[in-house]
Amino acid sequence: MAYYHELLKLCAFDGAEIISQKKRIERTFQILGLGSADMEKAEARIRENFDIALLGVRKVLGIWLKELFDAVLAREEGKKIIYFGYPPFQYTGSAIKVAAKSKNDFYVGCPEVVLCQTLGQIFDKLIPLLEAGEAAGLPPGHAMCSLLQIKLGALEKGIIPIPDLSIATSYFCDMGPKADELMQYKYGYPVEYVDSCLDSVWGSWPDYNHETVHYLGAQVNKLFVTLKDKFGLEINEDIWEKARLVSGKLYMSINELSRHLTADPVPLSVADTELILNIPTGCTGVAIEEGPEAVRILAEEVGKRVEKGVGVVPKGSPRVVILMQSFSDTAVNRLIEEAGLAVPLTMVLLPPTRPPEPYPYPTLGEKRAEQAMFTGAYHSTYGWIKRNMEGLKLVDLDGVIYTYPFSCRPIVCTSKLTQVQIEKEIGLPVLLLEMDLYDRRNYSIASMRTRLEAFAEMLKVNKVQGARCKEKVAHELVSS
Ligand code: SF4
Repeated sequence: MAYYHELLKLCAFDGAEIISQKKRIERTFQILGLGSADMEKAEARIRENFDIALLGVRKVLGIWLKELFDAVLAREEGKKIIYFGYPPFQYTGSAIKVAAKSKNDFYVGCPEVVLCQTLGQIFDKLIPLLEAGEAAGLPPGHAMCSLLQIKLGALEKGIIPIPDLSIATSYFCDMGPKADELMQYKYGYPVEYVDSCLDSVWGSWPDYNHETVHYLGAQVNKLFVTLKDKFGLEINEDIWEKARLVSGKLYMSINELSRHLTADPVPLSVADTELILNIPTGCTGVAIEEGPEAVRILAEEVGKRVEKGVGVVPKGSPRVVILMQSFSDTAVNRLIEEAGLAVPLTMVLLPPTRPPEPYPYPTLGEKRAEQAMFTGAYHSTYGWIKRNMEGLKLVDLDGVIYTYPFSCRPIVCTSKLTQVQIEKEIGLPVLLLEMDLYDRRNYSIASMRTRLEAFAEMLKVNKVQGARCKEKVAHELVSS
């Protein structure tokens, strides 16, 4: 039996698939330098960190491995390669795939996210990539985004191919395009910079400045022109709508799963839900095709747990929302539950608020840019905070853990202000948990555990006192 057979079976590959994909699998592991000892280690990590009793979880792990094969082999398999930065601009990646005559002609994705999910969570092999990225121009100790160090390290080591185009995300973060500029210089690939401006007037969200929409819209339209000129891909309203529907299937399954996660006790760990939330932000290929069914199966399994009252923490545990899970380190993702806190959702899953009437912008780019303003993140720090506050008001929680990566500039800027605003306006306690989503060398699990345990104790006391207070009020009402 092949040295990877057991691992792939654990990740819900079927026997026929392993045989038919043999060459691809072996070539990928050869490029990555992964041998039988790595497979055994990966199996042990999966058994320890993920809920493998659930077929849906195993299938999603398998999907990430398939995405890894596709990313690593894209050039050898003769595909045109387009990378987008994280976070991607809405459905741009899926729209490119829909516009292509044959979807197999293109690899479109964010390979650094795929590497975090696989080389990070499954194989624990990210550190050599981070070190290669540091040596190649994003040095340590400068608060460089470690996600970008991973991308640079992977290019440097020849793990991911040099793309035909990279779409740089300067509509949200300045470090992505700066790093892309470095990679463009080193490897000579073209970069499409999609620029914008995040400093809308304080207090203006959900209103926005038309100039900002015109500017971001023009940048997005410029990207569409480049895609047409370089690859003959026509992105229009029809294509965009089709891409929305393709991605919509996955979101429908995610919504179904999220509904179950609001149960008490919460039925699934943060470590397992993390595997799902990054599919639409990192992938446009096999994960989008097979993801909806895998997540639907998981939702069904989790629904049965809810019926039986099975949870990953005891019923009645304090409930917290977190900003994001680690993309690469399951140890971090398990910490919050180990401290006795239930996580029914992340801020990405907060319920949407009703968008204002759209303005009749004439171009697709401007229409998409207007939509981006409303989601807050591309509007301003104020827009981001307010959008999250609106969502937080709609859910029943005991606290907020703002898990922010210390080297992510747009997110760091929101951290202290978010804490102040939530505590003042909503009255929920907030723990600012500084961390790194991609590089486990940048934090200490022991010190994070200490902070989480102290916060959890406070929330438990609050919960008991709140219950006593409610009982007292009810008693006084009855007596009067
Ligand atoms: S700095 Fe933040 S927004 Fe920018 S690439 Fe890194 S994680 Fe993404």
